[in-house]
Amino acid sequence: MRFSELFHSIQGEGGLAGTPSVFVRTSGCNLRCWFCDTPYTSWEPEKTRIALQDLLEQVLATDCEHVVVTGGEPMLQPAVVPLTESLRAVGKHITIETAGTIFRPVAADLISLSPKLSNSTPTDAHRPQGSRYAARHDRLRDNAEVVHSLTVNYDYQIKFVVDHERDLAEIDDYLSRYPLLDHDKVYLMPQARTANELAEKTPWLTAAAEARGVRISPRLHVEWWGDQRGV
Ligand code: SF4
Repeated sequence: MRFSELFHSIQGEGGLAGTPSVFVRTSGCNLRCWFCDTPYTSWEPEKTRIALQDLLEQVLATDCEHVVVTGGEPMLQPAVVPLTESLRAVGKHITIETAGTIFRPVAADLISLSPKLSNSTPTDAHRPQGSRYAARHDRLRDNAEVVHSLTVNYDYQIKFVVDHERDLAEIDDYLSRYPLLDHDKVYLMPQARTANELAEKTPWLTAAAEARGVRISPRLHVEWWGDQRGV
């Protein structure tokens, strides 16, 4: 499995925010969001490989009930299926954090889906040669069939990263395309890499969430550690 890092921390987002968790971060992503806070898994992916058994042993050594498999895009890798099956066999609670562009029959207690809106598309202004990736990014980022499979077959939560108030119309459109989604499982969270950005965006986003009958998600790791790696 292409692997980036493993660390023990606190889940910072969504319905399990505050839960001690061990994070398994895979390397590699099929998208290139300009605001990606783990560029070492997407824009410049690390190439380390790890055997499943070694990874499993490292997870078990943390003695933590909650395991979050994240990325990058963990669903890119076929090995995510046997990894999650092995974790389930030893009684772990498994969350998969995914952008919802690829389906694999993972063993998961929670699919944490973070759909990528048009506000994620890279341009040259965001990153050197960012526009080279824009067409592929836009072609892949919204896959209705995968979103349907993930939300019908698993318990789920949906987290939208909101940069500007103008993003809200696109979220309204997205939710109207999936009328069966449970709004109690839908979260808005501010696009932010610093505590200051969070503090600036959270008030208007809270009002927007209330108006739509959805939830606001904290980003505890950003609040506490900014975009520091491995915490
Ligand atoms: S989907 Fe996630 S990991 Fe991939 S580029 Fe976007 S933010 Fe980064």
